[in-house]
Amino acid sequence: MVAYADFHRRSLVDRDGFWREQAALIDWHRPFDSVCDDSRAPHTRWFAGGLTNLCHNAIDRHLAERADQPALIYVSTETGQEQTYTYAQMHDEVQRMAAILQRLGVGQGDRVLIYMPMVPQAAFAMLACARIGALHSVVFGGFAAGSLATRISDAQPAAIVSADAGSRGGKIVPYKPMLDEALALSGSAAQVLLVDRGLAPMSRMPGRDHDYAALRDELAGAEVACAWVDATHASYTLYTSGTTGKPKGVQRDTGGYAVALAASMRHIFDARAGQVFFCTSDIGWVVGHSYIVYAPLIAGMATLMYEGLPVNPDAGIWWRLAERYRVTHMFSAPTAIRVLKKHDAALLREYDLSSLQRLFLAGEPLDEPTAQWIGEGLGVPVVDNYWQTETGWPILTIAQGVDSSPGRLGSPGFAMYGYDAALFDPASGEELTEPGQKGVLALKGPLPPGCLQTLWQDDARFEATYWHSIPGRQVYSTFDYATRDADGYYFILGRADDVINVAGHRLGTREIEESIAGHPGVAEVAVVGVQDAIKGQAALAFVVPRRSLSELGDTGGSQLVREIGARVDGHLGALARPRAVHLVSALPKTRSGKMLRRVIQAICEGREPGDLTTLEDPAVIEHLRARLEA
Ligand code: ATP
Ligand code: MG
Repeated sequence: MVAYADFHRRSLVDRDGFWREQAALIDWHRPFDSVCDDSRAPHTRWFAGGLTNLCHNAIDRHLAERADQPALIYVSTETGQEQTYTYAQMHDEVQRMAAILQRLGVGQGDRVLIYMPMVPQAAFAMLACARIGALHSVVFGGFAAGSLATRISDAQPAAIVSADAGSRGGKIVPYKPMLDEALALSGSAAQVLLVDRGLAPMSRMPGRDHDYAALRDELAGAEVACAWVDATHASYTLYTSGTTGKPKGVQRDTGGYAVALAASMRHIFDARAGQVFFCTSDIGWVVGHSYIVYAPLIAGMATLMYEGLPVNPDAGIWWRLAERYRVTHMFSAPTAIRVLKKHDAALLREYDLSSLQRLFLAGEPLDEPTAQWIGEGLGVPVVDNYWQTETGWPILTIAQGVDSSPGRLGSPGFAMYGYDAALFDPASGEELTEPGQKGVLALKGPLPPGCLQTLWQDDARFEATYWHSIPGRQVYSTFDYATRDADGYYFILGRADDVINVAGHRLGTREIEESIAGHPGVAEVAVVGVQDAIKGQAALAFVVPRRSLSELGDTGGSQLVREIGARVDGHLGALARPRAVHLVSALPKTRSGKMLRRVIQAICEGREPGDLTTLEDPAVIEHLRARLEA
């Protein structure tokens, strides 16, 4: 094994040579003219002049060798449906879907908005778009009419693919009424394709609404060739989670994305054709785009797509599926593992998980107690990876295919090949090179393949937001605060916005959260900084106890609060001790499970909480207000 540091260095100093090699992991219809064209930085063009197609790389090119191998394994514990599609069957389904989209008038460069639950047709639709060179814009199923309308107006889609309903924990969520309302609000003239799952009644508007099953029958055996598009052709747009403010419409290319995903499967995930990848995310998020749909298929693996809760019918369901389908790679999020942690750890040991090699987690800081609990329970390495919707694949982790370095608790690991990561002082713009210094994590351009090309129809926001936020530097800011130790391991300390300044000391809210989360009586915690007349800022902690508030009672509650204070004192010193610890029954999160600290902070400071369209459960806001007043 080459030392990882050398692998990483080469990716930067011999950038073209490195990525030319990676580009050989995918099929090209016509070779590219240049590897990296950064003449219009920060709008980097990867593999310009090359012609390729994402769907060809995900499906068609595998037909010769693995037509009868499973490509998509679909399991819904909501409807009881369980179905495996081979590569040959996927090829057929995707071509029919492509033919349907063409019938509805979709052409190359057009947008198709996908507002779907986790059903196979959602993946078919994404791949069908890629096949004909249309851009998909997947909107998380269950977003309310208002958020959906904004995204429809933004994408101006030629067609929308949707369904009668989604289902969550047995509760049917009708989509069609929300879609109808959103269409009316946006004034869109898009054609609508509807998958009828038989879960909720649907009204249909003649001439606009089309039935998927009928068209699928009619177009049986359809052959739709892959459109060879330039590597720089946009493949999709996708919104960020909206944790820090109004979501940003990330636009991604084709060739760079395919190469980045293929390379990540080999170097980062250490995955091979024929193996089984189970990513528990949702197609509405970037993790779902990259690691449910595209990457496993590009790598010739089977991808397991799951609709349902991790605890339904019981908290062993994921492991039961891992056993049944001989899953080799699992990819989930810390927030989901924390949900499982509330259940019996014995459930992890009931199943034969001998096929499982590793569990990857991303999306939020992975706290040590959660990492330890799941690692010990499963008996496989747990690999944290840090990235963003914007980058499409991991920025920080330990590349399992090329690096045998051990992980360090609390750290996602090293900067990945292609990423020239550095820490900067956000006030002065000075680069921080000493171990242990804290600063904003930024990436020096050009960004590697797979990262965003721009923000959809907003080059100005793309440049101003990401590339001009650190004084005197044209570097890409992640807006996350981090530190690096002497061996190059990075530690994410929280969002740059969440760093608080207590009596002149900069503290990441994450550091305080880590300390509190280690208390056995704590299920979840969020720490925010609020204005304080004496110290400038002070930390406030919101804690969801493991036992319910009524079970704890007043005495139990006060004791927990005292213990939490003492714990933080012991770990980080009295300065970091929260001014108050509020026990609550729930915390505000985005629909992708991220803590909306800005909302908590606004409520604490008596301000308007701002954009709430990405909020999972609006009732939490009232609950927080009530607890603060109590
Ligand atoms: P928005 O940009 O709209 O505010 P968002 O940043 O939550 O929303 P995403 O792209 O879904 O949107 O999330 C990326 C962010 O999630 C990162 O910038 C980081 O703050 C956090 N994150 C992701 N993975 C990790 C990880 N492994 N450890 C710590 N933080 C992580
Ligand atoms: Mg972000």
